[in-house]
Amino acid sequence: MNATSRHPVVPLEAGAGPDNPPCPACGEPLFGWIDRRPGLAGPVSRCESCGLGVVGAPGDAADALGALDSGASAVPLLHIWQQRNSGTLLIANRGGFSAWIGGAGWAGLAPESRYLFTVEATRRLIAHRDQVVKSARWSPGAGIALMWQTVLNGFTFGRNIALGALGRATAVPAEKPWQRRLDGFVSVVVAIPAMLAALPMELIAAALRRGGAVSLRFELL
Ligand SMILES: [Zn+2]
Repeated sequence: MNATSRHPVVPLEAGAGPDNPPCPACGEPLFGWIDRRPGLAGPVSRCESCGLGVVGAPGDAADALGALDSGASAVPLLHIWQQRNSGTLLIANRGGFSAWIGGAGWAGLAPESRYLFTVEATRRLIAHRDQVVKSARWSPGAGIALMWQTVLNGFTFGRNIALGALGRATAVPAEKPWQRRLDGFVSVVVAIPAMLAALPMELIAAALRRGGAVSLRFELL
């Protein structure tokens, strides 16, 4: 960059302050992403550097590592896949395309979520204990399911209604009874069209390495 540049580069650290606490994974300041809403423990912030999402106040690296070990983002859907594939860790990828288009309606944003991981955030976190990511693979079943539910969330008052009904996520039902009834109806009517949209979207996301669920294998250095 030359001296006549009109766009001075401000280091991310310049944004650090009480409103922008450091990212537990990489230390860069966190910035607001999603306001607090029903079914979430607090507002969601994200790291512009490694992509980690944090619900409520961030803890330290050990806290985030604990959340990672306890079952990735705590989306029950992922727990089930995880149990079938021991030795791997499945994350709902906050760096994925479904998180980007979904925002607050992203299906990976569960009531249990404390941290929302990306491959890069995970890589930096496990480096704290001398581990490296040996492989990171898109998980088709979980990725497509998360994209499908993310699309459905665009049609309902509540969140994760369909996966909740299938026992694969913790649903966040709408406030009013009529909304809940409508959500149940809409989820059934829109289920197939939503899948027809979600399938190609998630396939493209995966081809661009932006899949919604990633299976990770770690290795000690
Ligand atoms: Zn970070």
